[in-house]
Amino acid sequence: MFEFDLIQRYFRQQPVQRNDVRLGIGDDAAIVTPAENLELVIAADVLNEGIHFPVATDAAAIGHKALAVNLSDMAAMGAEPAWFTMTLSIPDSNASWLDAFCSGLYQLAAKYNVQLIGGDTVQGPLSISVQIAGYVTPGAALTRSGARVGDGIYVTGVLGDSAAALACINGEVDIDGQAIQGLQVKLDYPEPCVCAGQKLAGVATAAIDISDGLLADLGHILQQSNVGAHINIDAIPVSDNFRTYIAAGGDFNRALVFGDDYELCFTSPLAEPEIVELLKHCDCGVTLVGSITSGTGLKVTDSQGNVVNIDDIGFEHFAE
Ligand code: ADP
Ligand code: MG
Repeated sequence: MFEFDLIQRYFRQQPVQRNDVRLGIGDDAAIVTPAENLELVIAADVLNEGIHFPVATDAAAIGHKALAVNLSDMAAMGAEPAWFTMTLSIPDSNASWLDAFCSGLYQLAAKYNVQLIGGDTVQGPLSISVQIAGYVTPGAALTRSGARVGDGIYVTGVLGDSAAALACINGEVDIDGQAIQGLQVKLDYPEPCVCAGQKLAGVATAAIDISDGLLADLGHILQQSNVGAHINIDAIPVSDNFRTYIAAGGDFNRALVFGDDYELCFTSPLAEPEIVELLKHCDCGVTLVGSITSGTGLKVTDSQGNVVNIDDIGFEHFAE
């Protein structure tokens, strides 16, 4: 298939048609007419085979994940996603692979009403680069720099499923196939927290999406906000499948340091019941895991207050 036919077949017809797109795919560039009185939030993320997803990952999962990680960046900013472009490097134009890839991509695009408005297609090692833009009320975007002493530290959903899935796939831990499948859904089809992000815009003091592990990503908030934190390791939310992985000898700390969670970590002075109420229709769950402290250190303890040495769990100190 030539590039022209491939673009015609897979990218020209868009499942999402937005009113604020004046010219989509088919010309040298797209034209959008952004809503007045809103700010645009822009992000990009690339996925390379073998680095960001295992070789032989389902094409539908790759399509989903390429967009999901970008929607997750929009969520972390509190933005409403609108459009994306995509540069696709593929080794060959395999029709069944492209069909599956596009089904995963477009299903997620339709769910969040984001339109693919352009891109580029080249032959090369499998790599998908997505650039995304969305809207936010002026001044309401969530950043990493606003956390204040006394704020609660919250995470959405559960942590560690993707890490546990990889440990099982790599043969490090042996659990039954059904539990592995449950964990792998999170690795292959992460659900971006777009709903929670938008509800938190103008409410949370700081936010980040968890792509490199809670401790590392919270570390970015602490550094940019000039504050410290206390985390209660016993409060970290994990799934039943993750508990199955722990029971089989898996490492709990992977829920803190591994990443690929695509949940949100945010800070807020609001109490847990108010946050739970705010996000109750978002279908993600939310848990208070700690609090922002003065100084610049990150301290992890259990519920009894015993200190857990974070150097021992592979976390690179950012402070002191
Ligand atoms: P040009 O030579 O001007 O770059 P192309 O032939 O590469 O044009 O692309 C034709 C049209 O198809 C453009 O509108 C471009 O944005 C779109 N396009 C190409 N590849 C992709 C892709 N992977 N995803 C979305 N749109 C694409
Ligand atoms: Mg081109």
